[in-house]
Amino acid sequence: MNNGKRPVLIAGPCSAETEEQVIQTATRLFRTGKVDILRAGIWKPRTRPGAFEGIGTKGLPWLQKAKELTGLPVAVEVAKASHVELCLEFGIDILWVGARTTVNPFAVQEIADALKGVDIPVLLKNPINPDLSLWLGGMERLQNSGLTRLGAIHRGFSFSGEKIYRNRPQWQIAIDFKTAMPDIPMINDPSHICGNRDLLFKVAQKAMDLDFDGLIMESHITPDTAWSDAAQQLTPEDYGKLIESLVIRDDKNTGKEKTKLDRLRKEIDMIDEEIMNILASRMKISREIGQYKKENNMTILQSERWKEVLQKYIDRGAQGGLGADFISRVIKSIHDESIEQQEKVMIGEA
Ligand code: PEP
Ligand code: MN
Repeated sequence: MNNGKRPVLIAGPCSAETEEQVIQTATRLFRTGKVDILRAGIWKPRTRPGAFEGIGTKGLPWLQKAKELTGLPVAVEVAKASHVELCLEFGIDILWVGARTTVNPFAVQEIADALKGVDIPVLLKNPINPDLSLWLGGMERLQNSGLTRLGAIHRGFSFSGEKIYRNRPQWQIAIDFKTAMPDIPMINDPSHICGNRDLLFKVAQKAMDLDFDGLIMESHITPDTAWSDAAQQLTPEDYGKLIESLVIRDDKNTGKEKTKLDRLRKEIDMIDEEIMNILASRMKISREIGQYKKENNMTILQSERWKEVLQKYIDRGAQGGLGADFISRVIKSIHDESIEQQEKVMIGEA
């Protein structure tokens, strides 16, 4: 890590599992020198029942102990008023609201009501679905309760088509949030965006390049045997190395024009990356179609359908100010590649 201002670093296990695991993770994280706040899930909102639903209240004293041993503040996810009350009772320093809770205004309001008169720091994750208003609305509910020490966590958005990320980052939504509420710090959660440890560095670095204010990352003493989110957790030492290798750039010394240009270039880069991801998803489906055609003895090119598709996109492109010629070249090129990929499947090369 070099240059620039140091981001806020939050790390800890997805879930508190045992006292030993919490204490060991906390002390080993502390030793990296790269943690400001410890995190641990106590109540886990799982998508499917039967997955580990959290150790519950009995884990709260373990966090108190981790805090005493390391001197670091501790953060816990809350999803309802009773969680808030227990966290306050056990001296938890920071609360966060999870993505499955932010989607529900009733739940966010219940938490906001339970926090009236208690100005504890609260971090609000983005909702599971890519809905900026729902995220902003959740933040407004917390603000309306008198809370002033607030932050947002960008953890990506659920999407059924593409499986590069567990949750698609859709960086633009986090940037739009920052524009709408510039005083709220924005923390990135590479763990839940990636769902897999190989991609973590790239996402964390991108958050730093986009001038996010911090990172929240999952770390476990034996990641592969974690009771939740095993594939995305890092050992405390690997987490420390990842943070160490991040480049923190300082935009503050550059002229205004350059900063604006940088921002626009970053936006273009993000959009290009989305285009690449979308093209990769599209070709994957093309190969599946190739497989289907092979099994059903069909030809690759069905000319009538192709003509209709091309005309549809030329009309559609015109609405967005794109010339017919340009659209025709783009679509033809995608179609060519698609045919090639299908062909490979049909002749058994892919
Ligand atoms: C978590 O932080 O462990 C968690 C449940 O995350 P999210 O709400 O982003 O899914
Ligand atoms: Mn998790």
